Amino acid sequence: MEPDLTPKEEVVVEEPPVPIKSGATVKEVAESLGVGTPDVIKKLMELGEMATLTQTLSDEAIRSLADEFEKKVEMVHAADEVEEEPEYEDAGEDLVERPPVVTVMGHVDHGKTSLLDAIRETEVAAGEAGGITQHIGAYQVHHDGHKITFLDTPGHQAFTAMRARGAKVTDIAVIVVAADDGVMPQTVEAIDHAKAAEVPVMVAINKIDKEGADPNRVRGELAQQGLTPADWGGDTEFVDVSAKTKQGLDELLENLVTLAELEELKSNPNVEPSGTVIESRLDPGRGPVVSILVERGTLKQGDALVAGAHWGRVRAMHDFRGERVQEANPGDPVEVLGFDGVPEAGERVRAAENERKARQEANERANRLKTEALARRQGVRVSLEDVFARAQKGDLQELALVVKADVAGSLEALADEIAKLPQKEVTVNVIRDGVGGITESDVMLGAASDAVIIGFNVRPVGDARAVAEREGVEIRTYSVIYNVIDELRSAMEGMLAPEEIETTVGTAEIRATFKASRVGTIAGCYVTDGTIRRGGTARLVRDGTIIYTGRIASLRRFQDDVREVTSGLECGVVLENYADVKEGDVIEVFETRQVERELE
Ligand code: GDP
Repeated sequence: MEPDLTPKEEVVVEEPPVPIKSGATVKEVAESLGVGTPDVIKKLMELGEMATLTQTLSDEAIRSLADEFEKKVEMVHAADEVEEEPEYEDAGEDLVERPPVVTVMGHVDHGKTSLLDAIRETEVAAGEAGGITQHIGAYQVHHDGHKITFLDTPGHQAFTAMRARGAKVTDIAVIVVAADDGVMPQTVEAIDHAKAAEVPVMVAINKIDKEGADPNRVRGELAQQGLTPADWGGDTEFVDVSAKTKQGLDELLENLVTLAELEELKSNPNVEPSGTVIESRLDPGRGPVVSILVERGTLKQGDALVAGAHWGRVRAMHDFRGERVQEANPGDPVEVLGFDGVPEAGERVRAAENERKARQEANERANRLKTEALARRQGVRVSLEDVFARAQKGDLQELALVVKADVAGSLEALADEIAKLPQKEVTVNVIRDGVGGITESDVMLGAASDAVIIGFNVRPVGDARAVAEREGVEIRTYSVIYNVIDELRSAMEGMLAPEEIETTVGTAEIRATFKASRVGTIAGCYVTDGTIRRGGTARLVRDGTIIYTGRIASLRRFQDDVREVTSGLECGVVLENYADVKEGDVIEVFETRQVERELE
């Protein structure tokens, strides 16, 4: 039979949707829809919203309006456009030297804060800066006619949190190690974080005034971490200092100036100002107080600014001495009054043409962030699942990993196996490896470096899991080395098998243990989350390390055997064939199921 080709209905030519910028005003929406502004305002009133001409509208309001006028719209978000700042063509002569921005990192109590204070005091002593200095997130000192900017929130946590938001403000990291204590876990962490950020590093061996100080031993320990002193033929500058006696501080500053000169840090002060928020807070008397590190251009009083979802006009600026200033140059930190709220540290700050534009851009960003937050709940930055696809598209050349394991032996075995993986499409870069549970610091490093976290016989500890969800960092845990390597290889070849999704059914904390002659050791537990089930698969976790995986053999409430116990209740648990339970251990009951990989 011949197919019937006559149209049954009139063919309606669909009009293409009208693009409207997220955060558009009533007037702009009316223009885009091709209707009169009074009509728009009237419709809005019918929809229960009183609006003026210049008011910006939410995405939902714009969509409802379009429906009312029987038009199709397509919301254009800032995210869809290129968010990058324009590439300025800097003529060589416009570029001037800018101060380096220095972050101090190291193990707790090794003297980071004392060192920052001592450096600040040398400046006061030299008569360069009289009077009180204010905490605005950074300060500056002079050395031989050069300025140096120090971020005064020490530690790699702040550094990496900023980097996770895309900010890269630090030019040089100073790793502080106490001469009487040597390399400690957070020293290693700090080195890993600085390396992952590809920031040049120098070392300050502090507390050399102390009895028992052994700077040479510390040099040896650091050499083992890949930081070989320059006078041993390596390429890391070391300085012996004492924050207490102020010995060696001049030499430290001297080295920073030299390092900065090598880095050729330059910037153009004659372009539109931009920079990064380094701190912000709400002051009860002065409103939002935002510390900005100026990176390009010259920030002046009266400038209109956008920082993330916030905007403002520079009403007043103060430097770290608390003095009012009219302008700030590249590399200078200033405290700015006049924002409408408190943008997060690490947020980019940009000048806008005028206040209206600033407000509109900020509103657009606010809408976009809402959408992004929704999207983030479903997505992760980098997942093993999409490594291959992204490599093919050319937007991922390297798979960054943070690897944590229960013991040094398994870490070594993993490193050996990972090194053997064929790296044709993607190369693997282990940016941090260590023994112990997966910490918040590991997760933040993963966020800052778009890394996937591999846990071998270890679990996330503290808030690590929640932070990973918030930051969109993938954590994969394993208990067989072969599985780690197999999955990595498959991921890199784009052949990752159906994923085994693990869901935690319940967690309980062991609060006491009892010996019972018949069953062995009973763990007196408090169920902190979900449900604990008899017969369920469980693992015993001590300090983030898995020490047993098996079944819940017996579950009791008071004297009675029960099938399950829910959160908030106490119970007695006996693990199958396992008696070495201790107070403080955590029992996790979990289920696994296979899910097919989602096809794009
Ligand atoms: P942070 O945790 O790294 O910021 O360390 P702090 O700056 O708080 O210093 C920890 C402790 O070490 C404090 O009691 C300081 O007084 C002391 N300290 C810091 N630097 C020196 C130093 O150069 N010599 C001596 N003797 N003690 C120091």
